[in-house]
Amino acid sequence: MFLFGTVGIPKSTHKKPGGTIGGITRLRELTLEALENGWVRSVRVSEAICAEIKSCGINNQVKISVHAPYYINLNAEEDEWSKSRIRLIDAAFFGFLADATDVIFHPGSYLNQKPDLVLDLATRRLTECVMELKSKNITINLRPETMGKSTLIGSIEDVLKLGYQIDSVLPCLDFAHLHARAGDGTMNSYREWSDLLDLYQSYLGEESLSHLHIHLSGIEYSNKGEKKHSELLKSDFRTQELFQCLKDKGCSGRILCESPILEEDAILLKNLWEGMQ
Ligand SMILES: [Zn+2]
Repeated sequence: MFLFGTVGIPKSTHKKPGGTIGGITRLRELTLEALENGWVRSVRVSEAICAEIKSCGINNQVKISVHAPYYINLNAEEDEWSKSRIRLIDAAFFGFLADATDVIFHPGSYLNQKPDLVLDLATRRLTECVMELKSKNITINLRPETMGKSTLIGSIEDVLKLGYQIDSVLPCLDFAHLHARAGDGTMNSYREWSDLLDLYQSYLGEESLSHLHIHLSGIEYSNKGEKKHSELLKSDFRTQELFQCLKDKGCSGRILCESPILEEDAILLKNLWEGMQ
């Protein structure tokens, strides 16, 4: 079973009340069940707004997650890292107040350094973030996302290693990014996804496939990787085959749509999934 929703509020959110509250009620009208708050430029919410988001989510049975600001880099220079760290911690702190279960973030760039060395530093820094959150009794999963370019931290191995080594850290599987990453059209078949999910399970355990957090959309890419997200039906992404694989492996969790027509594609995904039961 999967819950379907959007990253950011639906395009068709009514003007009043608008914002996140309007977005949640609109999702409910559309029979969608999950919202990922797009706090992608900065975290600019008050504790009062978070309390409103929380009660609105509960009342409408819409599950909440947060997409942290884009400007986070686990591999940044020391002074830049202190700013990245605050963005991630803030997203987690306010997300937790808004009843979010997960914070999704882009882990950063290798900056032309060796991925192995970068991952050591990333692991240390992310571990410190988790410890800080724990000390404040903030219970939330931090989910580094698989990224669409090979220059960026966020291969499937990267996010699995982070998840394996750090408590409360789990991957966000962006399948469009994984498809675009190598730039050669790979990661677009049942066999490849089946191997990937087996790898996921071998790192993170038997139960791990039952609480996946997935981003899905179409994607345009070149040999350098991701260009931009696109509509599902306008891309070469084989959604039906992916769903067959997720179904055969007994996966569940949330699927958030990031295509340019957000909720239209989210509904398309939900219908496709339910049509296959
Ligand atoms: Zn993202």
